[in-house]
Amino acid sequence: MRSPRTKVVLVGTGNAFNTDGRGSQCVWVDPGSSPPFLVDAGPTALQGLERAKLAPGRLEATFFTHLHGDHIGGWPFLLLHGAFVERRSRPLRVFGPRGTRKRLEGLANACYEELVSRQKLAFELQHTELPVRKSLGVESGLGFTFDTIPLEHHPTSMGYRFQLPGRTIGVTGDTRWCPGLEDLSRGCDLLILECTCKKKPDYAHVSLEEVRNGLSRLGARRIVLVHLSNDVARALAKRPMSRVIAAEDGMMLRV
Ligand SMILES: [Zn+2]
Repeated sequence: MRSPRTKVVLVGTGNAFNTDGRGSQCVWVDPGSSPPFLVDAGPTALQGLERAKLAPGRLEATFFTHLHGDHIGGWPFLLLHGAFVERRSRPLRVFGPRGTRKRLEGLANACYEELVSRQKLAFELQHTELPVRKSLGVESGLGFTFDTIPLEHHPTSMGYRFQLPGRTIGVTGDTRWCPGLEDLSRGCDLLILECTCKKKPDYAHVSLEEVRNGLSRLGARRIVLVHLSNDVARALAKRPMSRVIAAEDGMMLRV
């Protein structure tokens, strides 16, 4: 029997500055065969989920690509929503690089000390910290395995390749163009690729120019660009590339 199609919603597609009003990084993945999960939860994650009419209460897990604020800053509000709106009681799983638990607890404490530090949450957070190295076939406990591949942006940066039943979805998080990125894209039905700017940037990010020049080295069947500004989207629309589209907040893809 054919597996159900995976639904991917690009909840927030902006950079760290929310340029052009785009939301912070957050991807909703609903494999169909198992409950949905998030990849990254930047500061506007909850707002984006509400706008897209995606119920955080359905989430089983959140994966973090690295520990920068534009990817983790929405976490305390997801906890708050779990505690007071969902009245969540079942555990929520958290996957991320080493240091994720300490960083997220610090963030939650800074925002709602009375909620977190006194163990007021009625639901358990189950953390799995992953070494930032290439690991294939990591068991998620959610009905699928995933691969991690270190990327070049921050010492905690890694991309995920989710091996969902019948479909493979890659998410880069932030990175510069590097061999790990090309490795991650291999075998993906969909690659969610950061593309922060049009030309090669000073900091460790991918540019549209690099995607254009290196497209033949990206093995993914489809590529959607995130972590971008309207500038990048317009440049792509002007000179399209096969297999590549620019994301908009709330865009839904069936994979
Ligand atoms: Zn970022």
